[in-house]
Amino acid sequence: MASQELPYPELDPINQKYFDGLKDGALLVQRCGECGNFQFYPRPICVRCGSLNLEYKKVSGKGKVYSYVIIHRVISNSEYFKKMVPYAVVSVELEEGIRVYGLYVGEVSSLSVGKEVKFKPYSIPWGVIPAFESLA
Ligand SMILES: [Zn+2]
Repeated sequence: MASQELPYPELDPINQKYFDGLKDGALLVQRCGECGNFQFYPRPICVRCGSLNLEYKKVSGKGKVYSYVIIHRVISNSEYFKKMVPYAVVSVELEEGIRVYGLYVGEVSSLSVGKEVKFKPYSIPWGVIPAFESLA
């Protein structure tokens, strides 16, 4: 690990597969084995029916920007992210009907609600985070 200037999420038996998926270049989300509900972020039970029968499914990663925020000032004192400003964090509604979050890779001036994007894993010095890029 080259740098540990920001904490990476603490891994546990619930979220481990999600982060392993990012490292392998895949966007994995939980799907309930009982009712079929997709959910994000990783949780120990299905938020729709309460089942413990959850499995991870690889999703297409294609979706539309639901909302976004443009970061102009990094409050964490991260030298890494300071070099990236302005950058955007997007909330994306996937084809599967759930919303996930990630970094937007591209010009922030090109962002708009409804823009079609696709998942792209993004490596930072201390791990891999979810990101999205324009489909067009
Ligand atoms: Zn369920």
